[in-house]
Amino acid sequence: MHLLLKWKRERIVAVQPVNDFHENVASAVDRSVDCAARPIIDLRGVVKVYETPAGPFVALKGIDLKVERGEFLAVVGKSGSGKSTLINMFTGIDHPTDGEVIVADTPIRRLSEGQMAEWRGRTMGIVFQFFQLLPTLTVVENVMIPMDLAGMYSLSERYTRAMHLLEQVGMADDAHKFPATLSVGQAQRAAIARALANDPPIVVADEPTGNLDTRNAALVFDLFVSLAEAGKTIVMVTHDDELARRTQRTVTIADGRIVDEVRR
Ligand code: ADP
Ligand code: MG
Repeated sequence: MHLLLKWKRERIVAVQPVNDFHENVASAVDRSVDCAARPIIDLRGVVKVYETPAGPFVALKGIDLKVERGEFLAVVGKSGSGKSTLINMFTGIDHPTDGEVIVADTPIRRLSEGQMAEWRGRTMGIVFQFFQLLPTLTVVENVMIPMDLAGMYSLSERYTRAMHLLEQVGMADDAHKFPATLSVGQAQRAAIARALANDPPIVVADEPTGNLDTRNAALVFDLFVSLAEAGKTIVMVTHDDELARRTQRTVTIADGRIVDEVRR
């Protein structure tokens, strides 16, 4: 009974429109603690071991990381240092071998796969280096997918909302094109519009400018800056030190550990 209630509470939190998100987390979870003071992403002693043919490989060696609500965090580090593995721990794309991951007051290991997909769709927008737009759908249809999957917004609202998001990223004129006809910069802007489909409080990006030229990288980065200004929590993996310097905090990963942290 207790667990069921708790799960229902978490669902209630998850389905609220994001404008009310913070208030509802506070009222649904614990009135005695100031919710705004709680980190929105909280990793405690996270270890990830991959089983490989050559034996176990420890990709994360005990990560403690808290991300505050509304923070813009850059994660940097050499290729193979564990950045994507780290991101996958709090998007729920993969599970830690040990440690605790709490996102938006939800200990995510308690979610089943089905619950996880729904929760992720409402809580997080994810942007990848290679966009991952579905090739057989138009741009606007791609942006509508997360709304369809999460059952957010009415059917008639979804199209209007998708067009509005495409306008915000300067892609309204390309809404009815197929992804293959877009430049890489356009494709990434469309992917950002898709990440924002359900107005998630958290936006996670794994090397979103890694495939872009300098001009498009700047355009895309500026979009993240404006999202941060609008109050989103942003975690961005990047190889670009100059871009990382424009965020509020940079953590450096080496060999599965956080080895440096700079606040600005
Ligand atoms: P980064 O994103 O910093 O380039 P990753 O997190 O992708 O690094 O990988 C960290 C380390 O874990 C690398 O050595 C990589 O080869 C290894 N690794 C990543 N995914 C797997 C997997 N599924 N199975 C085995 N090893 C993996
Ligand atoms: Mg990576």
